[in-house]
Amino acid sequence: MPASGYLVEEITGGVYWITDGGYQCAFVVCADGVVAIDAPPCLGGLVTSAIRDVTAKPITHVIYSHFHGDHIGAVDQFPDDAVRIAQQQTHEKLAEFADPARRPPDITFEDSMRLEVGGQVLEMHYRGDNHAAGNSFIFLPQRKVLMLVDVIYPGWVPFTNIAQSKNIPGFMAHHDYALEFDFETMITGHLTRLGTREDVLVQREYMHDIREAAQHALEITAEKRDLARNQVGTEHIYLYFRTIYEAAAAEAAKPVIEKWVGRLGGVEMLGVNHTLTMYHSLRLDENAQPPVVFFPPADSCNHNT
Ligand SMILES: [Zn+2]
Repeated sequence: MPASGYLVEEITGGVYWITDGGYQCAFVVCADGVVAIDAPPCLGGLVTSAIRDVTAKPITHVIYSHFHGDHIGAVDQFPDDAVRIAQQQTHEKLAEFADPARRPPDITFEDSMRLEVGGQVLEMHYRGDNHAAGNSFIFLPQRKVLMLVDVIYPGWVPFTNIAQSKNIPGFMAHHDYALEFDFETMITGHLTRLGTREDVLVQREYMHDIREAAQHALEITAEKRDLARNQVGTEHIYLYFRTIYEAAAAEAAKPVIEKWVGRLGGVEMLGVNHTLTMYHSLRLDENAQPPVVFFPPADSCNHNT
C-alpha cells in the first residue's frame, strides 16, 4: 500500500479501481467526465484524490452498488450536480434513512439500465435480493469488467454470517448470475486484490459444500438433544437450542473445513458460522425441517445420573 493510504490502478480502457487494502471502489474516465462508483467512508476524501491523480475531468455521474453506509457513506464528497444512479430498492432504503451523507439517487432502475457516456458503456442489472436488497451488478461490456459488491471474496471465504446476507438463496444464485456475464475482471468491494471468473467458481464450490454440510447438520440435529440437555439443561430454552444447533453445525462443518484450509482464507474461523447460517436458511427459507421433537424424554438422557 502506498504511503498515500490508497492504491489507484487502471484495470483497462479507462476503468480504475481504488483500494485501501480493505475496501474497494471504482471510477470510469469518459470523454468529458468521470463516472464514480461507490465511495467508502474508510477512504473518505481519498476517493477524489485518487480520481484527481488520474484526470481533471469533472465527476458527472455517481453509481451506488447498494445502500450500505460502509460502501457509499462518503458519496457526499462528489459534486451536488453529479447524477446519482441506483436500483429502486436502494432509493427506497435511502429515502427512509434520510442520511445526508447518502442522498437518494436521482435516477433509478428496476431490472436494468444502460448508461452510455463519452465512449464508455455501463450496464446496471438487478437480479433480486442477495447480500442486500437492491445490490446490483455494474457491468462494462466493452472492458469485460464486472462489479458486484459484498458477494464474492477473492482468496477468502465470505465474511461472517455468509456476508451478512439478507437473502441466502439469492446470495447463492448470484454466483451463477455473475458467471452469465462475459467478464474477465471483477471488482468485489473488499480485500486486497481484484477477482476473476475462477474466484467465482471457487467460492461457488465452497458455498455448495457449506449447503451440503448444513443439510447434514439438519439430519443430525436430533442426535444432539441429549448432549445439549446434559451440558446445559432445558431450563434456559435459548441456550438449549443454541447448544443443539451449534453442536450439529460444528460436526457437519468439519469435512468442509478440512477440504478448504489452505485454499480459502478464514475457513477455519468461519466454516462453522457459515454452516449454521445456511442451516437456518434451509429451515426458514426452504422449509427443510429437521424431523425432531426438540425435548427428548428425560430418561433418554440421564447419562450423568
Ligand atoms: Zn454491504
